[in-house]
Amino acid sequence: MNASQRSARNAYAGLVLDRAHLLRQDASWLAAARVDARTRYVLTLPESSLWASVAGDALQWLAPAALHEAQRAHASLLGLDGSGVAYFQTASAQPPGPGQALGLRTLAAAADAFHAGLAAYAAALAHWQRTSRHCPACGGATQHDEGGHRARCTQCGLSQFPRTDPAVIVLVEHAGAALLGRKPGWPAGRFSTLAGFVEPGETLEAAVRREVFEESGAVIGACDYHSSQPWPFPASLMLGFTARARSRVLATGDGELAEVRWFTRAGLRAGLAAGTLSLPPSFSVAHHLITDWLGRARRTP
Ligand SMILES: [Zn+2]
Repeated sequence: MNASQRSARNAYAGLVLDRAHLLRQDASWLAAARVDARTRYVLTLPESSLWASVAGDALQWLAPAALHEAQRAHASLLGLDGSGVAYFQTASAQPPGPGQALGLRTLAAAADAFHAGLAAYAAALAHWQRTSRHCPACGGATQHDEGGHRARCTQCGLSQFPRTDPAVIVLVEHAGAALLGRKPGWPAGRFSTLAGFVEPGETLEAAVRREVFEESGAVIGACDYHSSQPWPFPASLMLGFTARARSRVLATGDGELAEVRWFTRAGLRAGLAAGTLSLPPSFSVAHHLITDWLGRARRTP
């Protein structure tokens, strides 16, 4: 399995959509698409939820006629599907018609890859629009244009674009054992891979080494890219890695984790079977990092 195939297993990662970046700047195309009867509007709601079907397994998009003119005019272009149907995102307080508000995690578990991926994209874009109403340079008000993908300051002209914050998440291995940690407040027995945000001026590999050392004291040798996952909580991109530790020596970490320790495959499997240990949810890259490591052992004991 290659990295593309590994990424495709992660929730929010299976969206196939033409983001049509050139059309974002085409005002006449945008105006026509906003009222095209085939166009679908994805509604983002407060607290990172989205308008979903009554069954709870898909987004409940709306046709242009179901929205007010002002809602259509301020909607952001998400892109075009394989049939040329345009998708827009608009923030809404009270959606019309049947449906329900669902969170991103619920949709990740119940919806197909297209709906889950579109939900993640729409929610992340909506979050950026809410937090880019003022210019970071002069504090002036901004106006969103380019189909909702640029915030331009009305005072100094500075442009902002949607941001994504990279975070590394890493399965550290040493001679048949994996290093897993537990955060304060997690259920007893829940362990996951170590993770943290990439800092300015840092490579992904340096972030892996730093985060693992800060949280556990373990010193990392080589590391390799595994897969990636959009993580719209609110604006991250999880970059999964595997890494080899130079030894099993650990030290007191920075306090981010309540507990960090080595698990052998046999010990982890026995704990999972007995219910005394649990893993992160199956929609997370952390889950796949751990289960891939366990699976490798089954093939090459
Ligand atoms: Zn400004």
